Amino acid sequence: MNFDILTLFPEMVENGLNTSIIGRAKEQGSISIKAHNIRDYTEDKHKKVDDYPYGGGAGMLMQAQPIYDCFLAVKEKIEKEGKKAPRVIYVTPQGKTFTQSMAEEFAKEDNLVFLCGHYEGVDERVLEEMVTDYVSIGDYVLTGGELPAMVMIDAISRLVDGVLNNEESAQTESFHNCLLEYPQYSRPEEWRGKRVPDVLLSGNHKKIESWRMEQSIQRTKERRPDLYEKYEELKQCEQYLLHNKLHHMDMIEALRRGNAQLLYSGNDGVLMKEKISGIYMLTATDKENGERILSYVHKEEKPTLFVSHQEFMNDRICEEFDLHTENECLQWVYTRKEPLPIPKGMDIRRLDSIYSSTIREQYKICDAAYIEERLESGSMYGVFENDILAGFVGMHKEGSIGMLEIFESYRNKGYAKALEAFCINSQLKQGFTPFGQVIEGNEISMKLQKSLNLYPAKGKVYWLTKN
Ligand code: SAM
Repeated sequence: MNFDILTLFPEMVENGLNTSIIGRAKEQGSISIKAHNIRDYTEDKHKKVDDYPYGGGAGMLMQAQPIYDCFLAVKEKIEKEGKKAPRVIYVTPQGKTFTQSMAEEFAKEDNLVFLCGHYEGVDERVLEEMVTDYVSIGDYVLTGGELPAMVMIDAISRLVDGVLNNEESAQTESFHNCLLEYPQYSRPEEWRGKRVPDVLLSGNHKKIESWRMEQSIQRTKERRPDLYEKYEELKQCEQYLLHNKLHHMDMIEALRRGNAQLLYSGNDGVLMKEKISGIYMLTATDKENGERILSYVHKEEKPTLFVSHQEFMNDRICEEFDLHTENECLQWVYTRKEPLPIPKGMDIRRLDSIYSSTIREQYKICDAAYIEERLESGSMYGVFENDILAGFVGMHKEGSIGMLEIFESYRNKGYAKALEAFCINSQLKQGFTPFGQVIEGNEISMKLQKSLNLYPAKGKVYWLTKN
């Protein structure tokens, strides 16, 4: 992840982001942070970058020209590296309030550009020209955008792979699934007469986990009733989905992984948008309710991928969003907690973009851009025989295991089973329930799922797509 910051005070940002975890991440190359001095780009011979606002009023305003030229220099550098146009964030009290889920969204980008205002703000015209996101860090006014940019860069960076040592910590802390984190204690066991709760010294991990959960819930209820309300909504929704667990595994996992944006949840159905893939998912008790629930898709949104969990909704969804039925699938779920054995000597490796054309040739179900993105995000694995790629598997954006293919001359050697078992184990390690979706009629895949002890759902799901 590369951060470029347009500012009048580059040393403030660079010094502020040079220590501790963020400093280490910079040194290790997991992130890069570059501050650009807007003043270096002014055409004014006195190096001025601000002027009085037209129409009068207090204070000075940052002028458009130096900011825009500074931005163009950064944009050109990014384009030269062959990257897509970056998101440009203007930190301003007039923006959307920064949240953990925004941090998660920004952490998926390769490049982010921050514009820090100063004085009374910035000439509106340059904002219109370059800004993609307006973000505030809270309802108060600071003297400049450097601290907000630093706050956001810190929160985003710690979600970038390789920045935190302990991968787990970003999963369990505050705001994950709308709960605040539980209280924590370190040595000594007793301090000023206060003892560490016994359960934490018991060594019983199950008990510790449920104590922590209770504490998280209690704390959220007391300190953040607004957040607790959202948590309750998620729980109710999960309860509904659990009535038909295997059939709803995609939706349940989106919820549990903190990736579900709930558009509707009731005792007649659930509508959600999976945040990473942008896929809409709908389940409903009957057609009438389903049609009503569908109206919760915002007017401006144009879903390009819908997973319908009941056939009776397909026509209506297709009509409404100009989609058509592409695949009928069965969800297969690994319900156990134990990892699967992988035969010794299996050479399984993460794949990168070098394999893009080979995979594209072999796997026609997904388009080239999607495969490229999956490779770049490190979500595809290959099995090798004598250093030659024999087959591959991938994690889909919405969390299912798929894209499994073994090249013809390497079949019946246990490679498919090993690759899928590898994905199942890595999902279990992250605390997820592994699941995959098998296209109706794919007997070979169904046989494989059975042999790996996955269970099929009773009902089908329908993928409705644009092309
Ligand atoms: N006159 C501006 C207004 O009312 O919107 C406020 C300008 S503020 C004094 C100067 C700069 O600090 C802004 O341009 C912005 O970049 C930054 N800033 C101040 N408060 C902020 C906040 N809560 N979140 C993000 N940026 C902020």
